[in-house]
Amino acid sequence: MADIIQLLPDHVANQIAAGEVVQRPASVVKELMENAIDADATTIKLIIKDAGKTLVQVIDNGKGMSETDARLSFERHATSKIRTADDLFHLHTKGFRGEALASIAAIAHVELKTKQEGDDVGSMLIMEGSHVVEQNVVVTPKGTSISVKNLFFNIPARRNFLKSNTVELRHVIDEFQRVALAHPKISFAMYNNGSEAFNLPISNYRQRIVNIFGTKTNEKLVPVEEETEVLKISGFVGKPEFAKKTRGEQYFFVNDRFIKSPYLNHAITSAFDGLLKSGNHPSYFLYLTVNPQTIDINIHPTKTEIKFDDEHTLYALLRSAVKHSLGQFNIAPVLDFERDPSLDTPYHFTKKETSTPAIEVDRSFNPFKETYVSGKQTTAFKQQTLSNWDSLYVGLESKGTKTEHDFSEVHFESAEFTPSIFKDDTQVNQTQTTYQLHNKYIVSTIKSGMLVIDQHRAHQRILYEDFLKNLTIKEGVSQQLLFPLELHFSSQEILIINQLKEDLVHTGFVFSNVTNESIEITGVPVVVPESEVSIILEQLIGDVENEVPDSNFSATDLLAKSMAKSLAIKRGQSLKKDEQEHLVNALFACKEPNVSPENRTTFITMSVDELDKKFI
Ligand code: ADP
Ligand code: MG
Repeated sequence: MADIIQLLPDHVANQIAAGEVVQRPASVVKELMENAIDADATTIKLIIKDAGKTLVQVIDNGKGMSETDARLSFERHATSKIRTADDLFHLHTKGFRGEALASIAAIAHVELKTKQEGDDVGSMLIMEGSHVVEQNVVVTPKGTSISVKNLFFNIPARRNFLKSNTVELRHVIDEFQRVALAHPKISFAMYNNGSEAFNLPISNYRQRIVNIFGTKTNEKLVPVEEETEVLKISGFVGKPEFAKKTRGEQYFFVNDRFIKSPYLNHAITSAFDGLLKSGNHPSYFLYLTVNPQTIDINIHPTKTEIKFDDEHTLYALLRSAVKHSLGQFNIAPVLDFERDPSLDTPYHFTKKETSTPAIEVDRSFNPFKETYVSGKQTTAFKQQTLSNWDSLYVGLESKGTKTEHDFSEVHFESAEFTPSIFKDDTQVNQTQTTYQLHNKYIVSTIKSGMLVIDQHRAHQRILYEDFLKNLTIKEGVSQQLLFPLELHFSSQEILIINQLKEDLVHTGFVFSNVTNESIEITGVPVVVPESEVSIILEQLIGDVENEVPDSNFSATDLLAKSMAKSLAIKRGQSLKKDEQEHLVNALFACKEPNVSPENRTTFITMSVDELDKKFI
């Protein structure tokens, strides 16, 4: 029988390899930026069009390539970065596989311009699907510019697989930020469809983080520093009070390379034990330096996962370094017996000499002088009464609600047990139609038996339908804020808010000023309390980021769901009787009362028959 095995032609092999390296425009961004860094560039510009689907261009001022190297760089396994397998364990570059350019050229139109220092002219090369279309000399500045156009032009299936521009742009920005965060000594700029998205001057780690995530970030950062024989840690963790519901800002860099590591992430989370509200995630920007011999980066084609020789030690070191920092900045829980007691005294007090307490006497005081009494003294008195009055009022108010709260609980218990034993049933039904069970469920009677409603899910359904209605008829009622509310976000978050702005306005939000790191709000929907605004927007941004967008991705729906989730009464919240009744009525006025917007059961029923069976 004839032999049937053939070697695949290079362009086919390259296309297959490309599948591993290039999943989307963001992968191209990553590879090109990493090459620029490996070429010792100090300035790197990223230019994209249509979220990178039409164009990804990276311009650097690095060392450039010779004419021959320019041609060779597009061959598979062509690299200047390693020569022997042994070199893999002494890596100081991002790349080493020699696959990126070959893969990219197999699935896009590529134009390369490059010049080395000292050369008069540079080289230009145009590639189309692995073939050289043109090679020429060109006048170009020192460094390299690579444009990647029409990604996946020859693989329509892959092109169709790309997500919306919004989603792809988000991936591009993610990659850009990861690379920029790891290299503050390089200046970066990014332009999206002709407008500047980021401009990051040479700086240090802290400034780079602040330049990317907004000026407000500065006050949230707690430095972490630790140096041992196996590991050097530096960077920052976010103060616990700023932790978010989303996992957004969690960055590990190992030897300047962004990596993902659920294991090390766990080390950080556990260092935050007891400091975070449940469901909140700490933010961190941690830069680890280890001996390259102790890691293996080779296990993942996109190089975002690495293998450590001694993961357990890293875990312990990282955890204790973060714990230590949190403790030093006095963020640890009050009862922490491991804490250094000297930290309890503010630094400037430990150094202060003790002095004898002295009594200050006001020698000019004359109790009989009238002006004195009506002057200074009276003001002091006035202030005191005022604050007393204030606190009295507050006390009264909270006392009031407390009694009511207690009362409703007592009332509930007696309604549940006493009447059924001592009074006749009909009477109970007349006075008590709903009961709240464990501040979680509303129990009510229906003709066939009993109804149990999950208060949180039910309220979500009610709010959701309400918001959806406002969004579609586009006339949410707005309440004017007394003072405009200024909220700070990262530029990526602002991008998301901008996309949803029109919908947010329909629900009743009024925006007066949106910059690329803050927004000013002058009006909010009537149902939204001012104190909740930032939580709602944060939740919304998180939801948009986590949503796996598909064809039926609808911003309107997401917005309604997200706001309903934030604003719905929580489990554990006690409800007055009229609130309970209102909830039941409003739920059954909904179009789809049976399920929450997230498709979870809102209520169950139990018929008298079923109950009867339980008593056999
Ligand atoms: P790798 O980065 O793994 O070596 P690539 O396919 O990304 O493989 O690049 C191949 C080679 O092309 C690199 O080893 C480098 O010598 C050269 N090269 C790529 N991009 C640049 C650049 N921006 N400046 C200088 N040389 C570059
Ligand atoms: Mg490379």
